[in-house]
Amino acid sequence: MDFLQPSTWDEALAAKAAHPDATPIAGGTDVMVDLNFDRSRPAALLDLTRVGALTEWGTDGDLLRVGAGVTYRRIVDELGVRAPGLAAASRTVGSPQIRNRATVGGNLGSASPAGDAHPPLLAAGAQVELASVRGTRRVPVTDYFTGPKRSVKAPDELIAAFLVPARPNAEQFAKVGTRNAMVIAVCSFSLSLDASTRSVGTGIGSAGPTPLRATEAAAFLAAELPWESRGPVPASVAARFGELVGAAARPIDDVRGSAAYRRHALSVLARRTLGWAWADLGGAA
Ligand SMILES: Cc1cc2nc3c(=O)[nH]c(=O)nc-3n(C[C@H](O)[C@H](O)[C@H](O)COP(=O)(O)OP(=O)(O)OC[C@H]3O[C@@H](n4cnc5c(N)ncnc54)[C@H](O)[C@@H]3O)c2cc1C
Repeated sequence: MDFLQPSTWDEALAAKAAHPDATPIAGGTDVMVDLNFDRSRPAALLDLTRVGALTEWGTDGDLLRVGAGVTYRRIVDELGVRAPGLAAASRTVGSPQIRNRATVGGNLGSASPAGDAHPPLLAAGAQVELASVRGTRRVPVTDYFTGPKRSVKAPDELIAAFLVPARPNAEQFAKVGTRNAMVIAVCSFSLSLDASTRSVGTGIGSAGPTPLRATEAAAFLAAELPWESRGPVPASVAARFGELVGAAARPIDDVRGSAAYRRHALSVLARRTLGWAWADLGGAA
């Protein structure tokens, strides 16, 4: 197996163009598991850990641009205020050791329906920045996932960064697992409430072939929330929102949970995150 180790972004893109079958490796927390279990045997590994540009974040107009190589640990430590939904999800990833190495770029690279970064990125209306020697393009995260562990990323492309609004909304994340850490989520949900535009973003994880949005639920909630008064969310509104989120999922029965349980749990997570996010906006309980 060849081992390619570029030290600049241009070298990385040139290496990927010359070796489109090379597997990029960032934190290695998915790649090394697959190698160890002999699930993949790539012709070459493309080590991205020396490419400093991937580990930077900053603002780009009214967007926050975060390099694909920023670890969960740094998202928790450095972006908790700027990207609260993603930071909440990042706190639940793996263990401290995993969070020290693993990256959001790697989560997007694996494109698992269970990836914990995906629901908050969907809820925030994120974009994924893909690059190759042919150029750079920004893809709405809603268009990024094409199937289980599949995405629109071309063989010669690398993930450069993701972008979310620089002005954070009230964002929350919750997931259900068989224990508190080191499990693949049975299901997960992220909610974003934007009081300035009175709009709602949602993201569902581990309950469909790809991460999903609950668009009908979001439109319903945006129309029904008492944005002006910040009064309590009527119980009937919270219940209907939960039902619509459950209905938006496309879960299967598997070893981690039944489809019926996932829909039920998502309804509960939707109501719970709504209570938290509404309180973040100063809304009454
Ligand atoms: C013990 C353990 C616990 C875990 N717990 C969780 C969890 O709670 N939640 C969760 O979501 N995941 C979890 N994971 C999975 C894993 O940690 C995440 O998917 C993580 O985000 C992967 O990031 P990485 O940097 O390690 O990716 P890598 O393993 O380096 O790469 C993952 C994939 O992305 C590709 N890739 C990486 N960077 C780029 C790039 N810049 N451009 C193009 N492709 C790229 C790789 O080629 C590969 O296909 C766990 C894994 C382990 C081993």
